[in-house]
Amino acid sequence: MSKLIQGYEVVIGFETHTQLATSSKIFSRASTAFGAEPNTQAAPVDLALPGTLPVMNKGAVECAIKLGLALGSTIAEKSIFARKNYFYPDLPKGYQISQFEIPVVQGGSVEFFLGEQPKTVHLVRAHLEEDAGKSLHEDFIGQSGIDLNRAGTPLLEIVTEPDMHSSDEAVAYAKELHKIVTWIGICDGNMQEGSFRCDANVSVHKPNTPLGTRREIKNLNSFKFMQQAIDFEIRWQIEQIEDGKKIQQATVLFDPDTGETRAMRTKEDAADYRYFPDPDLPPLHVAPSWVNQVKATMPELPRVMAARFVSEYGLPEYDANQLTQSQAMAAYFEDAAKACGQSKLASNWVMGEISRRLNQDEKTFEQCPVSAVCLGELLNRVHASSINVQAARTLLDRLWSGELKYDNGRFILELEGHGSITKSLLMGDLIVELGLGQINDSGALEKIIEEVLAANPDNVAQFKAGKDKAFNALVGQAMKASKGKANPQQVNDMLRSKLGA
Ligand code: ADP
Ligand code: MG
Repeated sequence: MSKLIQGYEVVIGFETHTQLATSSKIFSRASTAFGAEPNTQAAPVDLALPGTLPVMNKGAVECAIKLGLALGSTIAEKSIFARKNYFYPDLPKGYQISQFEIPVVQGGSVEFFLGEQPKTVHLVRAHLEEDAGKSLHEDFIGQSGIDLNRAGTPLLEIVTEPDMHSSDEAVAYAKELHKIVTWIGICDGNMQEGSFRCDANVSVHKPNTPLGTRREIKNLNSFKFMQQAIDFEIRWQIEQIEDGKKIQQATVLFDPDTGETRAMRTKEDAADYRYFPDPDLPPLHVAPSWVNQVKATMPELPRVMAARFVSEYGLPEYDANQLTQSQAMAAYFEDAAKACGQSKLASNWVMGEISRRLNQDEKTFEQCPVSAVCLGELLNRVHASSINVQAARTLLDRLWSGELKYDNGRFILELEGHGSITKSLLMGDLIVELGLGQINDSGALEKIIEEVLAANPDNVAQFKAGKDKAFNALVGQAMKASKGKANPQQVNDMLRSKLGA
């Protein structure tokens, strides 16, 4: 049962245009690279010159097959290309080549978690089509021009059933789909450049009544805008209905500046496009043997990998899901876990310290300045209690900034005040050199603790009066007195026993 808003149930279906990561266009040999000078990447076919004929790009079909395999869809052995007819300046042919009645990918589903809740969104289809060009409005000369570099870029439009019932579900679906298409390598996922654009169809209705009329929010290219746009649209539609007005089927745009959606045009029906099979392209045949060939090249999928992380490394499901956000992150975790033999410790550091630093630097795991093997070496020492967490963080800081380098089992340290003079050390020697070794010796710790207790009678009295915070203050003092090198667990235990707690 989905949650109601002011007595209304929300219904959402998605159409997502994923730009396929092929190097050439879907029906011509022109390049698909982003950002070139206008009209430098448009072949005669893309310019719609008379007498030119489209030729199907095999790589684009393989992308569709990969998606179908990843989502458990049926891959049609025979599908048809159709002409979708409409006029627009950026569409010189006067029609877009798409698939209509028989798409290459049919059915399937996307499964994900929303918090703890498992959720399945069913797909209707995914079809191959070409992108249109772009109108460029040059305000300073008061003219508009057409750039056909994007014309003919291969797209896979992925259409869901109206299975989602809140903006949270919709965003979680879009994030999961984004993860899958980038994971299997069919799309670069760059939302700013328009490689992954979502149209959200939104309607509201009272439970146990027919579905409401939908409005389609076009071209959502960030997850944040997606959430804002859908939330605004839901409130707007409910308000209209409560005011006694009818919702008109329409295509709307979201304006990030006002946070509002605004009708762009009334929605066309399929009949308006006069679809018919494209006589220039024969039916697309995908033999089962081709599907099998592609299957052999598929990477382990995120959900399968997450299940393996649970069984192979004994990780909690939460960790397994977090670590499989991207292939690079998952590989980083596996390498670190193998290097130190401590899966949970590696998981904590990859999800925590490493992710946090990467986020701060706006870097991905591919760009991580500290290798997984190097992290594994640090964690080895943490696990063996030869350094504590604080010392490991200090080392990580130095490695991150490049002040300290790691190369094949050795650490390269720049000597202070000696410019370019460096020292190459094994981990054990490095810890000694930097004075980071953990103090595990109970005699030494006892001495520190005695001194801290003697110097902080107020905290001791407060603790005895029942204030737990005072205990943390004493631990802090002892850590400080040891220059951060004391074994924190031992300090805790010894303090408790000394205080008779
Ligand atoms: P069209 O091809 O004209 O855009 P479709 O029937 O293919 O129309 O649906 C497009 C999208 O709209 C699909 O994702 C579908 O799930 C969704 N959808 C259909 N009806 C509704 C509705 N009443 N409310 C919300 N979404 C809907
Ligand atoms: Mg549509």
